[in-house]
Amino acid sequence: MDIDSLSDRILTGERRALARAITLVESGREDHRAQATELLAHLAKSKRQSLRIGLSGTPGVGKSTFIESFGMMLIAQGLRVAVLAVDPSSSRSGGSILGDKTRMERLSRERNAFIRPSPSQSHLGGVARRTREAIALCEAAAFDVVLIETVGVGQSETVVSEMSDLFLLLLAPAGGDELQGVKRGIMEMADMILINKADGDLKPTAIRTCADYAGALRLLRKRPQDPEEFPKAMTVSAVEEHGLEDAWSEMQSLTDWRREAGHWEVNRTNQARYWFDQEVRHALLARLETPQARAMMDRFSTQVGEGALSPSIAAKQMLAKLATD
Ligand code: GDP
Repeated sequence: MDIDSLSDRILTGERRALARAITLVESGREDHRAQATELLAHLAKSKRQSLRIGLSGTPGVGKSTFIESFGMMLIAQGLRVAVLAVDPSSSRSGGSILGDKTRMERLSRERNAFIRPSPSQSHLGGVARRTREAIALCEAAAFDVVLIETVGVGQSETVVSEMSDLFLLLLAPAGGDELQGVKRGIMEMADMILINKADGDLKPTAIRTCADYAGALRLLRKRPQDPEEFPKAMTVSAVEEHGLEDAWSEMQSLTDWRREAGHWEVNRTNQARYWFDQEVRHALLARLETPQARAMMDRFSTQVGEGALSPSIAAKQMLAKLATD
């Protein structure tokens, strides 16, 4: 593959080239990996930055509908919008494919939109790297906003929030009890909580739910780096396209504030460091998965079982051997 020409085509914003490049970063083949690395190094020189928005919510809350309406609104404002997904493997069996084009029909027909469904990789570490690289590719291809969708099942929110500039939590209107259902850690990640489906019969419940969450957010740890009114809870209707412009204007005002105060850059720097740390950890764990390492583990484990070695001495010897191999 001619990496120079692929790179040039991505820089002109060509979607087919972008799709091809994402396939390259998703590939497990070693030669593809080398090409992907070369391509990313090339494109990093463009220094383009998009606004990366993470979006989480349980199945059925209206993520696809919201992304479609919100994406269409951004496009009407002249922006280019990319949609990526981080799909924890456990939710795949649940049947909903994130970033599915058929669920975002209007958006998928737009010239200024790019939608990429989640890959079928199971291991979250691999998905995380692929998504970070796909974001970098979308930025180089001059997308102004990159939406990163995930399902609210725990770990994947952390992954997404660690690669986003803004993190949104989408919720449905519900009785007070439901408040307990959202884990505190996830609430703490959110810059904004959007209560969707604030229309028709559900509207009063949505308004009440929103007030409940606004109250809960006030009780969370203060964020000295953000304006006082954040994190914020708001109501929206993805179907009726209500509240989307307000939500966008709040996102912009938070983003502007962070940029002016220098927090934006600090956040991206911290994220880069976080991912460096994660990559090292994953690579170290991968070294335990080779056939030789497994065989060595088995030998040491047998000795520990027989009482010939203590667990800590065996671990030390194992690590020493691993380091010299
Ligand atoms: P996802 O699984 O989170 O992607 O949710 P979907 O976008 O597929 O929406 C799930 C269901 O909720 C669908 O039947 C939608 O039509 C409905 N829905 C989504 N947004 C709204 C909304 O703003 N108002 C109402 N009343 N229904 C909505």
